[in-house]
Amino acid sequence: MKILFFLSLYCISTFSFTQDISYAKKVLDTLTSPYFEGRGAINDGEKKAATYIAQEFEKLGVQPFKNSYFQYFKTPINTIYGDLSVAIDGEKLQPGVDFIVGANSGKLKGTFDLVHYNAANLPSKKTMQKLSKRNFFLNKFIVIDGATIPSDNETLSLLKINVVGATGVIFLEDKLTQSLATTYVDYAILKVKREKINRKSHSISVTIQQKLVSDYQSQNVIGHIKGTEFPDSLVAITAHYDHLGRMGDEVYFPGANDNGSGIALMLNFAAHYTQHPPKKTIVFMAFGAEESGILGSNYFIQHPLFNLQQLNFLINVDVIGTGEEGLMVVNGIELSTAFDKLQTINTKNQYVTTIKKRKNAPNSDHYWFIEKGIPAFFIYGLGSRKAYHDVEDIASTLPMNEFNNIFLLLRDFIDGL
Ligand SMILES: [Zn+2]
Repeated sequence: MKILFFLSLYCISTFSFTQDISYAKKVLDTLTSPYFEGRGAINDGEKKAATYIAQEFEKLGVQPFKNSYFQYFKTPINTIYGDLSVAIDGEKLQPGVDFIVGANSGKLKGTFDLVHYNAANLPSKKTMQKLSKRNFFLNKFIVIDGATIPSDNETLSLLKINVVGATGVIFLEDKLTQSLATTYVDYAILKVKREKINRKSHSISVTIQQKLVSDYQSQNVIGHIKGTEFPDSLVAITAHYDHLGRMGDEVYFPGANDNGSGIALMLNFAAHYTQHPPKKTIVFMAFGAEESGILGSNYFIQHPLFNLQQLNFLINVDVIGTGEEGLMVVNGIELSTAFDKLQTINTKNQYVTTIKKRKNAPNSDHYWFIEKGIPAFFIYGLGSRKAYHDVEDIASTLPMNEFNNIFLLLRDFIDGL
């Protein structure tokens, strides 16, 4: 995709308009750079990102609540650090590309045999019991190719949670999708690209260093710009800034679309509203620990920094760097009047091709606010980009060509609240 500047359409605000996208791109490039380590627990990546956002808040003139932008909280987090290697029959696999370590994997070092299971040779429950009683699966990895097995198959479900007590479990996948966990198991879990292991592959050598950080400190970064007419009425723009961090020494997950794009948009609004003072107070919330279970926003809702009853509306943006196929509004079905308003603005101005709606779901930080009865949308971009929770989610391939249109659409919507 390409960046388009319809300069003539915006002759009055051309300057700030072009400034917007260059600032957004700068934020995106910064947050996805190696210095930020994928914005996770290892090497203080998440903390560095929080510090950067607070510095931007300060530069832009966003005010903290009380004296600090930071709201600290603690959570356990499982980490895969240091040396990491996987080889199949002596052939080394590339971390992040050929394999990823399961979020709740345990540590392991050594060489082990492979036992293959797919639709054609699923063991019976009885066989599994017999074999595991004899410790058959000790020093073995089970390789699960679930492609043609119905996901509600009982044996598959049992194998997936390693009831047989194998030393390791390998899931063969077409697309590697990483996640985070706050607990771990006492065996190794790997997701491996399907073409890297065949039925004849017989051994695996692994080094997986894993540690559960039980009292990991994360933080939310929160500020506001006071409204000129209705300072006690609040509108929040939120985005999580954390991502999946590192997986061993070689790999980090840049998280450009998820959610460098959302932070870029949120900071763009901060820049905008310092130049154009809003009527209502605009609150900016960059949440931490979203990837490990929407934890930062959950902490905030239990420890709010302002009266939640004053919060008129919340817009959460997460994965907003596409949009060539329009936008999805989560909770748009429930909030039909607000959704219709957004549609009307879009129809009038032709900002994005289409706006779709779906029901509320616990898939990002908006969720807890809606549970509390606060009107909120979670908006994400629709497009053909496949990169998601993997090493391919990089800034240079993120379209961002609907970014300004999305910005203008939400600006009009917020200003009309
Ligand atoms: Zn994510």
